[in-house]
Amino acid sequence: MDLSRFPRRQYTEGFSAIEFLPNFTRALGGPKVWIKRDDMLGLAPGGNKTRKLEFLMGDALAKGADTLITCGAPQSNHCRITLSAAVKEGLKCRFVIEERVPNSYDPNASGNNFMYRLLGVEAITVVPGGTNMAEAMEKMAAEARSQGRKPYIIPGGGSNAVGGLGYVACAQELQQQLFEMGQPMDYVVVGSGSSGTHGGLVAGFLGNNIRIPLVGIGVSRDPSDQNPLVLKEAQAIMDLLQTGIRVPQEAVVSHGDWWRPKYSVPNPAMVEAVQMLARTEAILLDPVYTGKIMAGLIGLSRKGFFKPEDNVLFLHTGGATALHAYESVILGDPLAAK
Ligand SMILES: *Cc1c(COP(=O)(O)O)cnc(C)c1O
Repeated sequence: MDLSRFPRRQYTEGFSAIEFLPNFTRALGGPKVWIKRDDMLGLAPGGNKTRKLEFLMGDALAKGADTLITCGAPQSNHCRITLSAAVKEGLKCRFVIEERVPNSYDPNASGNNFMYRLLGVEAITVVPGGTNMAEAMEKMAAEARSQGRKPYIIPGGGSNAVGGLGYVACAQELQQQLFEMGQPMDYVVVGSGSSGTHGGLVAGFLGNNIRIPLVGIGVSRDPSDQNPLVLKEAQAIMDLLQTGIRVPQEAVVSHGDWWRPKYSVPNPAMVEAVQMLARTEAILLDPVYTGKIMAGLIGLSRKGFFKPEDNVLFLHTGGATALHAYESVILGDPLAAK
């Protein structure tokens, strides 16, 4: 799949590392767990949104934008990394924050909220959960235009066809790395939220004939709601690339057993996963996404879905900045983790 005809800004030098996790593998009792360090991507501290923003920013700059507008939850990694990209490129950045949990936005909170202020966000509008975010961002863009700006709207999570190209690029990078390592994988475990990451990998795997099954772990929806979103994203990417490939429904698999009680709200399996990886490998997960995604990997291993001899690659999508806003939960305050 030829991505070179799409404008792109490069925010990471080289490939993100793939590492074997010997201590974690031993603690879990198998499968053999590997990790791809997309938490180490550029735009300090980066994460999966960095890859999407390489293409989104390429597009924004090609269109002459001077102001980015995006949206997210109160502790949004996507908002923070979009702001970082704006800073790097000399653009301004404004957010619409959706309070999916009522009264959860505290401008003085730690974690990503602190980073919004440190990095110099231009404006934040907070709206209640369930608000039409596309409309809210349109309104913000109209206001920016009336101030003489050229706004560029980035959807939640950067998950549209252009952003998804970042994970087609990741699929190609992964294929090259596994070839150079001479290491086949039996599964790749990926988080599934706004679906640009999962959908981009589905498109990239199909388009490059990578036959490793992708196991999505939902962070906010059960498979019946999540899989159609991922399928739609993967198809939109295929269409943008003009591959002529129709993405079959079977290419999208996800599990919905680890995100409850609610998006971004802690559960004990997440706390266990965050502590386990920190204490075996000194790698930090996050409470909203990768803690629950790793809880999925742990749960599927204990259920026997992954066999002890399997090689399973966990895509670490980042997010550890949010840990600081959840310290009491992560350190095992049992009331908070319920
Ligand atoms: C946004 C995010 C995800 C989910 O990725 P999507 O492309 O939105 O599905 C996973 N992990 C982290 C740390 C994130 O910030």
